[in-house]
Amino acid sequence: MSNENDCIFCGADTSFGSGLFVNRISADMYTDEGEYREGYGCSQCMMLECDRCNKGIAIDDDITPDLLCGEAPSPRNALFADGSHRVHEECLTKEEQIEWQEEQKRYNLDGLVQIGDCS
Ligand SMILES: [Zn+2]
Ligand SMILES: [Zn+2]
Repeated sequence: MSNENDCIFCGADTSFGSGLFVNRISADMYTDEGEYREGYGCSQCMMLECDRCNKGIAIDDDITPDLLCGEAPSPRNALFADGSHRVHEECLTKEEQIEWQEEQKRYNLDGLVQIGDCS
């Protein structure tokens, strides 16, 4: 029987005082056997990987191409021009950083992400 504070991916203890408590993220997943698990993921397991520097990105700090053009994710906007999919904000190229800033301005003005044209 597993502990409700154990990371559902690697089993690390994320309970208070374990050192992983602060950065744990509630998560759910299906095991390979099709069993549904709900609980927490430790920060290591919830890390995504940047396609440009290969370092971890905390969830929600990742930038994908659909964010830059304000579109819903689709196969058409899944990759940056260089084939990267998920990168750090600081790993964006100059042009992409400009697009990203424009996009955030739009977001702030309207409080809504508008569907833009990705050209
Ligand atoms: Zn873990
Ligand atoms: Zn990076």
